[in-house]
Amino acid sequence: MTKNKRLDKFAIAAALQEIAALLELKGGKDRFKARAYQAGARVVGGMSEDIGEVVLENRLTSIRGIGDALASQIEQLYLTGESSVLRGLKKEFPPGIIELSGVPGLSTSKIKILHEALGITSIAELKSAAEAGKIRGIKGFGAKTEGKLLETIANHRQRAKTEERLHLHRALQTAAQVSNYLQTARDTTDISYAGSLRRWKETVGTIRIVANTKEPAALVEHFLRFPLIVEVMEQMEEACTVRLAEGARVSLVSARPSEFALALLMETGSNAHVNKLHQIASDEANRPEAKGKRRKSSGRKSARSSELQTEEDIYNQLGMQYIPPELREDEGEIEAALAGNLPEDLVTVEDIRGMVHCHTTYSDGKHTIEEMARAAEAMGMKYVTITDHSPTAFYAGGVTLDRLKRQWDEIDEVQEKVKVRILRGTESDIVADGHLDYPDKILEQFDVIVASIHSRYKMDSAKMTKRIVTAMRQPVFKIWGHALGRLIQRRPPFECDVESILDVIAESRAAIEVNGDPWRLDMEPRWIRAARKRKIKFVISVDAHSTGALNNLKYGVAMARRGWLRKSEVLNTLGTGAFVNAVRPG
Ligand SMILES: [Zn+2]
Ligand SMILES: [Zn+2]
Repeated sequence: MTKNKRLDKFAIAAALQEIAALLELKGGKDRFKARAYQAGARVVGGMSEDIGEVVLENRLTSIRGIGDALASQIEQLYLTGESSVLRGLKKEFPPGIIELSGVPGLSTSKIKILHEALGITSIAELKSAAEAGKIRGIKGFGAKTEGKLLETIANHRQRAKTEERLHLHRALQTAAQVSNYLQTARDTTDISYAGSLRRWKETVGTIRIVANTKEPAALVEHFLRFPLIVEVMEQMEEACTVRLAEGARVSLVSARPSEFALALLMETGSNAHVNKLHQIASDEANRPEAKGKRRKSSGRKSARSSELQTEEDIYNQLGMQYIPPELREDEGEIEAALAGNLPEDLVTVEDIRGMVHCHTTYSDGKHTIEEMARAAEAMGMKYVTITDHSPTAFYAGGVTLDRLKRQWDEIDEVQEKVKVRILRGTESDIVADGHLDYPDKILEQFDVIVASIHSRYKMDSAKMTKRIVTAMRQPVFKIWGHALGRLIQRRPPFECDVESILDVIAESRAAIEVNGDPWRLDMEPRWIRAARKRKIKFVISVDAHSTGALNNLKYGVAMARRGWLRKSEVLNTLGTGAFVNAVRPG
């Protein structure tokens, strides 16, 4: 055992990932083990603590997701650079099996034959062997199979480039790992997310990262040594795109300080937004009178590099306001910025004063009222609304009337101990006929009501519209929770006439929730904008079922910003008294 064999957390994560992939190939009950190793790889790769300390202090098994078996492999990897499990598995398979098994139709046994006959260990080698006509000579393959193999490889490459979008939450985790690794490079000052991740889209195709560095080529080389990379998809001197073991695609653009702002703007997109900026820039350049005017103030030549230090400079140079990344979709933001009427007070995380929509152990939450309240207080909140499920949501432990009474007593007790104001709320089901759960007399006693649909999603559009309209017209003030019931990548929004519902809400005692649960992110930005036009108010909620989920706030705020929401349009930016008055049901 020598010291220099010790692996860092990324190399350990890569080894665990490799174990997972090989176990997955074995199939059967090894699939379950595979999942444990994969989860372990994610935990290790994302660790903020020094892994060496954790190993040496024997604390691995105290980390969630790491059991004894996993801990022993991590320890071996850290101390010796090797893992007995990985060594054993590698003996069972030919080299390159993980990459090659990604080619559809190529079974483990075929890969073994190819390896024995031609020493093939990668897709690239397979491709050139097939192109050279070497495969057809192998027993069981033939010319037809060879041709088909080439076709499959080409399609596979193409698909790998376009398919599979990562959920935003996962993309953020992976991007954090990569950026964490990149920060270890020398001469690198800024590492910024770009692309759809920076625009907070619900799903991300390629995780785009732009780095500000004096040594662009060296940084690309450093990145290519990131242990979790399994395939380099594109490589240039100052940029590259790779695929990570988990399947994520990551692209890095490595820019010199003078080019960083422009690179960041271009990489952030969207394409439509950037194209329109190009158009404006070239129109501008072709206008002689504009040229003269600009030269006076800034001097066009030098403005290209040294003066455009920030994205803000670039937008200003084009004669418009700065456009925040969340708005860069070419949906009117450029025109508004040119006219100078883009809102400059879009809501921010810092504006939020209260956590809205929190569940506790009274329904399906993990933590108690006190735990949720203290966690919200620790995050600087002035108030928190406890909104457990109502009785109709029996599967989620909906709170019956007698337990509701007990919950209110407990809120009073906890309130004595904490500063944050705890508001009595409910997430009341909108039942099939559009009425709210709990009798009116009870509803009026809440401080806040979130009204949501949790069942019967498949009603036809007319019925669903009527159901929601009926609910919104109830005389109590309520917040329409996770409006259209979508679950990202799992369930589409339900059918209804959103425009007419918004018309009704504009005339009713109701507000709309922007739900920060990363799987919901509902309602979506285009509808937020449609509601804004009608002067409807919003809350940004966390829909938290644990203290950790209070961090959903950032997602809710991002969605709100994508919907162009200003601080003054969001009720939970108000202080406690004003908020309580604004949402009081009766
Ligand atoms: Zn709900
Ligand atoms: Zn909820």
